[in-house]
Amino acid sequence: MKITNCRIPGTPELCDILIENGVFKKIAPNLTDVSGQTIDAEGRLISPPFVEPHIHLDAALTAGDPEWNASGTLFEGIELWARRKTTLSEQDVIERAVATVKMCALNGIQFIRTHVDVTDPDLVALRAMTQVRTMVRDLCEMQIVAFPQDGILSFPNGRGLMEEAVKLGVDALGAIPHGEFMRDYGVESLKFIMKLAEDNGLLVDVHCDEIDDEQSRFLEVLAALAISYGNGRKVTASHTCAMGSYNDAYTYKLMGVLQKAGLSFVSCPTESIHLQGRMDTYPKRRGLTRVKELLAAGLNVCFAQDSIMDPWYPMGNGHILNVLFHGLHIAQLTGRGEIDRSLEMITTNSAKALGIEDRYGLEPGKPASLLILDADSVYNAVRCQSPPLYSIRNGEIIARTEPAKKILAADSLGG
Ligand SMILES: [Zn+2]
Repeated sequence: MKITNCRIPGTPELCDILIENGVFKKIAPNLTDVSGQTIDAEGRLISPPFVEPHIHLDAALTAGDPEWNASGTLFEGIELWARRKTTLSEQDVIERAVATVKMCALNGIQFIRTHVDVTDPDLVALRAMTQVRTMVRDLCEMQIVAFPQDGILSFPNGRGLMEEAVKLGVDALGAIPHGEFMRDYGVESLKFIMKLAEDNGLLVDVHCDEIDDEQSRFLEVLAALAISYGNGRKVTASHTCAMGSYNDAYTYKLMGVLQKAGLSFVSCPTESIHLQGRMDTYPKRRGLTRVKELLAAGLNVCFAQDSIMDPWYPMGNGHILNVLFHGLHIAQLTGRGEIDRSLEMITTNSAKALGIEDRYGLEPGKPASLLILDADSVYNAVRCQSPPLYSIRNGEIIARTEPAKKILAADSLGG
């Protein structure tokens, strides 16, 4: 396959891309080699595939069942999910998860990290998701995080369920330290999963300080543990909303620890601005972590959707460019340079968090996976939330968009 007239960020002239056996063979201007199918990108922007680094596929598409979340709080969401969870079957989880992966694939996502609730004695959702991971492998590479929604020390046999999840084949271990009954349990839960991850060669991705409580300081614990294990590149701190409420003196000290630890951050801007700040009157906090400051400190930060129509969030449709668009507003990353760099937050930064850099990116020798976006620049792709006209994975077209036409009537200027 050959793709001609490609605009590649950082490359001044248009390039052609030659793909052979599912791998990028050459990326350069005016390639004369032709093999098989040719797509003319007509000067459009080429991007590596989008990555969804934080989503809950086991809960997706359950919004309104058994009830809609009336308060819009994280806490009501957890209560509703606890009720819905009692009715889960493997088939139910598989059908919703596969439907949600398809939504993501249609929007250019080819890598997904999903959290799966393991505070269930039967681990129904996890058993289902390990099957989904295989079923969808032509559309995306999936990582599964064992996520203890109701806690590890605060839930009966919480530690045993995490160990069982490891045996069932998860890729990463999670925790929810701010949700445990008390601070000591939260600290202990992090020590427990970091050791379990180390012993089993797994990644770590913690729901960390997802609360507007400025006293919620589990991020420092996670970072300190990552420093002592020397595994910061394998550790992700998701949400860290409380950091948006920390005082500046403490944050200054914390930043130094985070830089030493070298962990990745996932912020879910649409979800957090929706769920957080609910207990505030006015001023009402945005509930996001300090995205702009973390980036300025040289830390790896990416954006994620978190939910698609579940007890926590009634919206969502797999359109992660839309999440980026809103994230730039909410985190005030709207300088021209910030917008021009922003695609990294749903592509290369996320790939780094997932530890997939060896098989990700527009480089000869890597799997030929890319998007042709309907825009001539990153700026316009983000501004217009341009759909991927083609999503190509390992040299195969897996999804296409035919954009709707908008037509102004000829006499609308009154001529
Ligand atoms: Zn989450």
